[in-house]
Amino acid sequence: MPRLLVQKFGGTSVRDIERVNAVADRVAASVVGGDRVVVVVSAMAGETDRLEGLGFEVVARPPPREMDVLLSAGEQVSVALLSMALMERGCRARSRLALQIGIRTDGNHTKARIEHIDVEGLNADLAGGVTPVVAGFQGTAPNGDITTFGRGGSDTTAVAIAAALEADECQIYTDVEGVYTADPRIVENARRLDAVTFEEMLELASLGAKVLHSRSVEFVGKYGVPLRVMSSFDEGPGTLITTEETTMEQPLVSGLAYARDEAKLTVLGVPDVPGVASKILGPIGAASIEVDMIVQNTGADGSTDLTFTVRRADYERARETLAGIQKVLGARGIEGDDRIAKVSAVGVGMKSHAGVATRMFDALAAENINIQMISTSEIKISVVVAERYLELAVRAIHDAFGLGDAIAVEDAG
Ligand code: ASP
Ligand code: MG
Repeated sequence: MPRLLVQKFGGTSVRDIERVNAVADRVAASVVGGDRVVVVVSAMAGETDRLEGLGFEVVARPPPREMDVLLSAGEQVSVALLSMALMERGCRARSRLALQIGIRTDGNHTKARIEHIDVEGLNADLAGGVTPVVAGFQGTAPNGDITTFGRGGSDTTAVAIAAALEADECQIYTDVEGVYTADPRIVENARRLDAVTFEEMLELASLGAKVLHSRSVEFVGKYGVPLRVMSSFDEGPGTLITTEETTMEQPLVSGLAYARDEAKLTVLGVPDVPGVASKILGPIGAASIEVDMIVQNTGADGSTDLTFTVRRADYERARETLAGIQKVLGARGIEGDDRIAKVSAVGVGMKSHAGVATRMFDALAAENINIQMISTSEIKISVVVAERYLELAVRAIHDAFGLGDAIAVEDAG
């Protein structure tokens, strides 16, 4: 049986015509090798940023519907170029936009969710020996409008198509060799992982690892799509994202993620009575500010401090919102810091082992890094530290769990 593959190429993989040709060579090789392939592509590197910038040049708050028409244009360019390059190689390729193949979403402009994919068109292409080249990141709202899925959303197009077609594998080709134990730009001996579970990947993606769009990973869990992240620049097996935990002993920690764009706010000295947290966080939510970690601490005098983190971009707005309700809350003051970062360790092995947190805290203590906040779940531990210690913290934790490649010791003899 020929395999059915969905191959997705990100922006850097099609950043110029040379790379478009290289992608075409790779896809053509799969097709010649006997696989049936659905290709999904992103806009050429930097193009979506450029288009977004144009929108903001025209108006400070661009209408989301028009932003979707604008941003989705980048993918229309790359599917056309790649289809031509494939045809040049004797492949019967056809560019396909979301509207043409029926990628149906809700009507939430700029952050739409896929609800259904009409598989008939794609199946007809495949049955006729045609390689469909699908524009990633875009869908069609119930009223026929173009929608997009949020930045990085082409991954989700690919995985959703793989789920709908029950493909044998969804391959996400990118500019790194797979998922690493930590960002190789920070940690020199970071190691490529052969496999991670989708639970771990979901945590890593939402905690700041930028390899995959979070929603694409949700599809892996929901539909069991075998997903592989691999390099379009080098050969190599990449990283498989699985639904199964292997029978092998799981490492305590599989990988580290970090997020730099964080800020924290503290409401000081509010009376410790029922309803305080909701009175503070209610208005924050109403202002569409997403809250991440929350810590509440009751002092000896019966008043309480509540600290929470938000995205750095929302910091000023969050401060203003709190200032507006400080009197009503009876709070003694408001403090904040927008130079913090979050470092997280993720691993399904934590489920069955105690002492993981201590090892992480010891590693930070040894480097004299102060931990400002802590939050844990079954498979992750996150800490907030001053942003200037971020790199040091990541390296220290990476070492403490022995995540890196062994560093070759020079033979003195
Ligand atoms: N072109 C879109 C972006 O830059 C979608 C993607 O690349 O996945 O966010
Ligand atoms: Mg991407």
